[in-house]
Amino acid sequence: MKNSNIKSHYDVIIVGSGPAGLGAAFKIAQNSKNSVLLIEKKKISSGGLRNDCKQNYTFPVGFPFEHWSKDEAQKVLQEVKIHLNPNIEKRFNIEKYTKRAKKIGVEILSIDQAHVGTDKSSALIASLIKKLEVLNVQIALQTEVKEVVSNKKEIILADGSVISFENLILAPGRADYSWLQDQLNTLKVDYHDNIVDIGIRVETKEEYYPIVKDYYDPKILFPNKVRTFCTNSGCAHIVREKYKGYYSINGHSLSKENKPNGLVNFALLKTIRLTQPVVSGQQFGTILGQMVMQLSGGSVIMQRVGDFRLGSRSKKETFNSDLYDFKPTLKNAVAADLSLSMPAKILRDIWKSLKMLDTIIPGVLHPSTILYYPEIKTYSNKPKFIDKNFMVKKGYYIIGDAAGTSRGITAAWASGIRAANGILLSFV
Ligand SMILES: Cc1cc2nc3c(=O)[nH]c(=O)nc-3n(C[C@H](O)[C@H](O)[C@H](O)COP(=O)(O)OP(=O)(O)OC[C@H]3O[C@@H](n4cnc5c(N)ncnc54)[C@H](O)[C@@H]3O)c2cc1C
Repeated sequence: MKNSNIKSHYDVIIVGSGPAGLGAAFKIAQNSKNSVLLIEKKKISSGGLRNDCKQNYTFPVGFPFEHWSKDEAQKVLQEVKIHLNPNIEKRFNIEKYTKRAKKIGVEILSIDQAHVGTDKSSALIASLIKKLEVLNVQIALQTEVKEVVSNKKEIILADGSVISFENLILAPGRADYSWLQDQLNTLKVDYHDNIVDIGIRVETKEEYYPIVKDYYDPKILFPNKVRTFCTNSGCAHIVREKYKGYYSINGHSLSKENKPNGLVNFALLKTIRLTQPVVSGQQFGTILGQMVMQLSGGSVIMQRVGDFRLGSRSKKETFNSDLYDFKPTLKNAVAADLSLSMPAKILRDIWKSLKMLDTIIPGVLHPSTILYYPEIKTYSNKPKFIDKNFMVKKGYYIIGDAAGTSRGITAAWASGIRAANGILLSFV
């Protein structure tokens, strides 16, 4: 959509209004008189700020070790809190779970968390956008950046208009990794993407996973790089997200004001680091995702734990039999056989972790529990930065999940603050 108010030049242009872009915009607007244009191709920012919006406020959750020290992350998180104003969830009985976990070589991290809920997140985003407008940041929603022009400090919008800048921040999020790769190629910036998280999403009744009453999103680390991720309860649902050529599972929940549905979902992911000959995490994820598409007739698959244990595939006719006492929240997943579609090494480590989890929280492996596959989290393109403020080239910064500088809302916001610090220094 053409935005006629857009000028031809800005001190700073930010592409993407996810938490990374917002973090950068606030920092620059509150600390300088630079002209700032924030561009977002959708009506509202996408990603986790829009969906569920669980915020983690304890290092290292969301902060890749190669870019963040504990001290720095904790310090910048205080700044993030000022904007997102979190209501930190209480945690109970952590010692009980930690003690059980420790005995079998599992670690439970105790993390400060807040949860907004999918139904409330748009209001939060709208209020942040309004605050930015008051700070004179120009916001262009439903405006897509087509490409960055090499060596010219210009971008071209989808409608063909050209805008120049002193500094550009690209924060396109993980879903637009291939667009970012194109821009990195144009800018001749080196990058690699050899890591990917592959796993399942577990859905069960809250009574079989009662830890969520004590700890909203338990962060549990198992051997062989398997971990729990993104737990949802209250009014919790499973969704499928469209990627290029496949669907990946995800989960979210509504705010506490909604009627609980008695279900819980969480991901169990294994981190895979690839070496030669396949060195692209995106590529590996896509291959696995496409295999599921083939096997499921174009969707994602699900299997009851009861069937999985017996080594028999779940079938449509049996999926809701009297043996199984709740219905899946993702209606278009196909009842099938997990072990036919998941590489053995991943399946083995995930199943072992599930058994360990069942030792710590007995009940989670109830026959009714549903295992959905695939949940794929690409680690995106890790560009070669030339300074600690995520600069890849003089005047060009790449931040957020797409750049591997964060893995979650609060850390993405923090990466925006850091890039903004670099820009503020360059204007001194
Ligand atoms: C369904 C879902 C649920 C999640 N739940 C959580 C959660 O509860 N807690 C958590 O910490 N994390 C969650 N995450 C992860 C979280 O979304 C990310 O960690 C975080 O949003 C990354 O921020 P970002 O700013 O880097 O990217 P994003 O939030 O993805 O924002 C990037 C923005 O850039 C825009 N954009 C991309 N390309 C262009 C272009 N060419 N022109 C203009 N605009 C463009 C996109 O439309 C998007 O709005 C979830 C993710 C998903 C998909």
